[in-house]
Amino acid sequence: MADADKIPLAESAVPAANGVAAPQMTVDTTEALRKQARLIDLAPAGTIVRRLDGTITFWSQGAERLYGWPQEEAIGRRTHELLRTEFPESLESIVGILRREGTWTGELRHYTRQGKPLTVQSYWLAELNAQGEITELLECNSDITERKASEEALRESEERFRVLADNIPQLAWMTNADGWIFWYNRRWFDYTGTMPELMKGWGWQAVHHPDHVERVTERFKTSLVAGEPWEDTFPLRSNQGTYRWFLSRAFPIKDSSGKIARWFGTNTDITELRETRESLERAQAELKDRAEKLEETVAVRTAELRESNAELEAFCYSLSHDMRGPLRAILSFTDFVMEDGAAVMSATARDYLQRVSGAARRLDRLIQDVLAFSRVSRERVELGRVDLEKLLREIIQERLELQEPAAEVRIDGPLPSVRGHEASLTQCLTNLLGNAVKFVGRGVVPRVRIYSEATGDRVRLWVEDNGIGIEKAAQGKIFGLFERGQRSADYEGTGVGLAIVRKAAERMCGSAGVESEPGHGSRFWLELAPVE
Ligand code: ADP
Repeated sequence: MADADKIPLAESAVPAANGVAAPQMTVDTTEALRKQARLIDLAPAGTIVRRLDGTITFWSQGAERLYGWPQEEAIGRRTHELLRTEFPESLESIVGILRREGTWTGELRHYTRQGKPLTVQSYWLAELNAQGEITELLECNSDITERKASEEALRESEERFRVLADNIPQLAWMTNADGWIFWYNRRWFDYTGTMPELMKGWGWQAVHHPDHVERVTERFKTSLVAGEPWEDTFPLRSNQGTYRWFLSRAFPIKDSSGKIARWFGTNTDITELRETRESLERAQAELKDRAEKLEETVAVRTAELRESNAELEAFCYSLSHDMRGPLRAILSFTDFVMEDGAAVMSATARDYLQRVSGAARRLDRLIQDVLAFSRVSRERVELGRVDLEKLLREIIQERLELQEPAAEVRIDGPLPSVRGHEASLTQCLTNLLGNAVKFVGRGVVPRVRIYSEATGDRVRLWVEDNGIGIEKAAQGKIFGLFERGQRSADYEGTGVGLAIVRKAAERMCGSAGVESEPGHGSRFWLELAPVE
């Protein structure tokens, strides 16, 4: 088959496309037309020639590739049935346009042989006879499905961006590479009460505070030139004419070649934050001021208190000390009278004298304790290394009441050496051990265990007894001066011993305390710094 026979368009549609009647063909023009027809056949667009009723008379190779229908199956069929054409307007109106203008162009939806939908840009050219009736139509379809899909995706993404940008709490804007603003979000206009025409470019300066606008512009321009992100804080005028503070930032957006294409900026209202920070700073300053004043007052008061305390202690010491003289005289003379006059005295008189002597001795004990407490409080205490175990053994050895058969006092060693003051520690331990063997039930042999335990960077010495124990309520009080427990009336004492323990512990930079349950013994502790 000759080429010309295969391509009916070469002889009919192309000349008619120019609206010129087919001229007498020479060999050259026939050849040229064949080439054109071949070109149309090979072009990627699907070219179809059909009669007005839709019957296909030509089906290019491009159409074969586009729709999947081979030429022999397409020719003779009706285009719109074959391709299930969906028109953007009625076919009558399209035909009307063709009659009037000879051409029509628009977007059509077609389906391939496999049923895949295609969007095509369609160009129709009508061949009209002398009466102006359409005899044939040339239809040229280019596939724009992908382009349409990406246009749609772009439109959707722009819409998403717009919705997002208009609904964020910040004011937002975009500039070109030179800082010329071409877009603001809705909030910008809502807040400033301005119009796009007034704001574009560098129009934003109009809503800036006159005291800040120059600095802001300068710093923004510096960032533009350096291509560095921009940040600044400044007031912006609202539609009410008042100013609010905004933290503002802009980031450069680069194109695929790495060049800055535009800047995206935001302004975040931080007025409340600033006000809160300012009031916080004011409150902090005031607090600091008050704390300093308080410290001063406390220092003055402490000095005053120390002074009056020292005076009181000195007074107490000298009073106690001076009281011992007459008291000793009472004791001595009572003894003399008892020795010399016992024979001539009545039993009642002897009883009275014994009571006087007993009371005087108790008073002397009290005075001695008060003096000891006063010494512990007033004396200079120099801290050094004290071997606890050695000290305890010496104390036990010196006192019969701490030895068998009177009591069982056991040291669960080894005990560490501590940083302390030997005389003060001797007093503490003597008091603790004395109490441990004193406060026991009638007929009970006192059993005392002494051991130590590390507590963080300190060491705790425990004195555990099998005594009567102490009620919870009393445990917090018994370290106070002259405080005695509820059941202590049955036991001799002055209520000074534990006050000495606590005071001495404090002076050695330590502490003292107790754990106890009535009827189940007590565990007194003394906490000090260990010495390696
Ligand atoms: P005193 O022993 O002279 O009464 P302290 O100051 O030494 O005074 O003790 C205060 C009180 O604490 C005591 O009266 C007693 O009630 C209670 N107490 C102290 N040590 C013990 C102990 N080991 N067991 C029970 N109670 C104790």
